[in-house]
Amino acid sequence: MILLQNILLDDRRTNIFIEGERIRRISPSPIPVPPGTEIIDGSHQAVIPGFINMHTHAAMILLRGIHEDLCLYDWLERIWKIEAKVDREFIYHATRAACLEMLKGGTTTFNDQYWFAPESRRAALEMGLRPRIAFVFLDSHNAEMAARQRKAFEALYERSKGWEGEPGLCVGIHSVYTVSEENILWANRFALEHGLKVHMHLAETPLEDRDCRKAHDGLSPTAYFDRLGVLGPHVIAAHCLCLSDDDVEILGKRGVHCVHNINSNAKLSSGYHFRYNELRDAGANVCLGTDGAASSNSLDLLETMKTTALFQKAWRNDPREMPLGELMDCATVNGARALGLESGVIREGALADLSLVDLDNTYFLSPGSFLANLIYAAHSDVISSVIVGGRLVMRNRHVPHEEEILEGARNVIREIEAL
Ligand SMILES: [Zn+2]
Repeated sequence: MILLQNILLDDRRTNIFIEGERIRRISPSPIPVPPGTEIIDGSHQAVIPGFINMHTHAAMILLRGIHEDLCLYDWLERIWKIEAKVDREFIYHATRAACLEMLKGGTTTFNDQYWFAPESRRAALEMGLRPRIAFVFLDSHNAEMAARQRKAFEALYERSKGWEGEPGLCVGIHSVYTVSEENILWANRFALEHGLKVHMHLAETPLEDRDCRKAHDGLSPTAYFDRLGVLGPHVIAAHCLCLSDDDVEILGKRGVHCVHNINSNAKLSSGYHFRYNELRDAGANVCLGTDGAASSNSLDLLETMKTTALFQKAWRNDPREMPLGELMDCATVNGARALGLESGVIREGALADLSLVDLDNTYFLSPGSFLANLIYAAHSDVISSVIVGGRLVMRNRHVPHEEEILEGARNVIREIEAL
């Protein structure tokens, strides 16, 4: 049990009592608490919902900065050569390091798509985060590989029934250009039959759009997936950058969760005209992600929010675009909605996935908007403590076993250095 005492929430001082994994009570009047409750003095702090990073390849943190200044396909070709050599041990230690970094940035949940899903999940749970981990279908249109992946996924799904806690397993359809139609249909059917989310890359580059139209009767990637009957509210689609008006309408009508990854898209020059207003108005749920740290270099959602807003205001030539409240929703509650979690909001009964923000610094001196100061001025080192499911997993910027996590990652990176 935790009591956050006299803490700033939405510009007002209040008290928040956390019992078990949920927020039990919020009240500006003193809350009587049972003995054994940990009391945190919030008089110099604010509380915000934990960030939800809706598109990551967490273990790529150890491939950060390895190939710079390349466009997506050249970059992918080089990264895939390295990835062919990574093993379970690498994924486990790399994901632990990524979780350490995400916690320090106030992220409590991440939606991952990478190799060796069980190792990523184990690392994330040990670090105290709430992960969603996709098994990746990527068969390069090779029938033998496709069959092997289906078998491997079925076995993993069976194993996941015995996992302790929420399995958090998702179906990853890498993209239209890397997965055969047969596997796309199989994976989607499996997801629907078993109530799993589908996590895919969609409409990331103009080249993907061109190639898809050439291969599939002039259909865009969005229209192609729609023709296959794949798109629906169980789908989390990363990027959604190269969209026609028809594509926007389809994504909205199907209730797809669209994840914007501005830092990765801008850095790889894939594009930056993300159609936030149109997708929102059409009925799609827009969330934010960082993508892997090998392409965007950062797993920092505070930075992502700032870049997102700057690009939206700049390319639309209108400073009213992407207002602060909507920006914050994209990084929190919209992700929770996509994953079916009762988090991303601070209210009684919701999951206690929260971050505390240290207000004792220059960023918050002005009487201006707290969210503006947080997103446009502060950096993620103002995140002082993080609570996930009612557990304090970072306290005053201290995460248990930090040295050991760094050492584990250094050991596996030596293998990559030798490549
Ligand atoms: Zn990605």
